[in-house]
Amino acid sequence: MRKKVILICSECLSRNYTTTKRVEDSTTRLELNKFCPHCNRYTIHKESK
Ligand SMILES: [Zn+2]
Repeated sequence: MRKKVILICSECLSRNYTTTKRVEDSTTRLELNKFCPHCNRYTIHKESK
């Protein structure tokens, strides 16, 4: 079973990506370095609720 999560740019708060993760990992928050079209560069993207 996988859960859908939204990745939000930590700088401009744009919702740029959706992904899925295993429910067993839900205690840990994802943080990924992703390209943000709004910032026009790579930024840290954090998991939304
Ligand atoms: Zn951004």
